[in-house]
Amino acid sequence: MTYIAEPIQRKELRSLAKAIREILQVEDRLYIPVITILEKVMPLLFPNFSYEYVPKEEFPDKKHGETDIVNHIVRIREDVYYGAIEGNGRDRMTVMHEIAHYLLLVICGVKFERNFENTDVITYKDPEWQAKALAGEIMCPHELIKSFSADEVAEKCGVSLPAARYNLSH
Ligand SMILES: [Zn+2]
Repeated sequence: MTYIAEPIQRKELRSLAKAIREILQVEDRLYIPVITILEKVMPLLFPNFSYEYVPKEEFPDKKHGETDIVNHIVRIREDVYYGAIEGNGRDRMTVMHEIAHYLLLVICGVKFERNFENTDVITYKDPEWQAKALAGEIMCPHELIKSFSADEVAEKCGVSLPAARYNLSH
């Protein structure tokens, strides 16, 4: 692990996700339009924000997206972008994951630092966990999904089955 962040609990991320869904005007929607949010809503809300689609060969293996907080750019691998448009749950979540990093670090100002000693970091201080949990709460809001099965969550929210199970478990 490279970074350690200020601690945030799931409860706080859940309230933050609710506020973000209101700002994005998708409060009651199960299937949220992640690409429209990335391309239209985010730049409108945050004038410094921009995004780029990067050819697969320009990203290291297994990297699907990245958030450049210095230059305010979210970069998404090109094939992930196409997948998200076609409704692939994992790709849709990747887009929201990067948006979540941006919102946490730039908009909410969550402080973080390098973990020089490379010590084990408690989950709620792990920026990756924070982005995963926030993206999950935005895509699969607890209040709307709690009575669904994992299959229903995956289908209605447009997320992968593992993501549906993960979000139902909290
Ligand atoms: Zn991440």
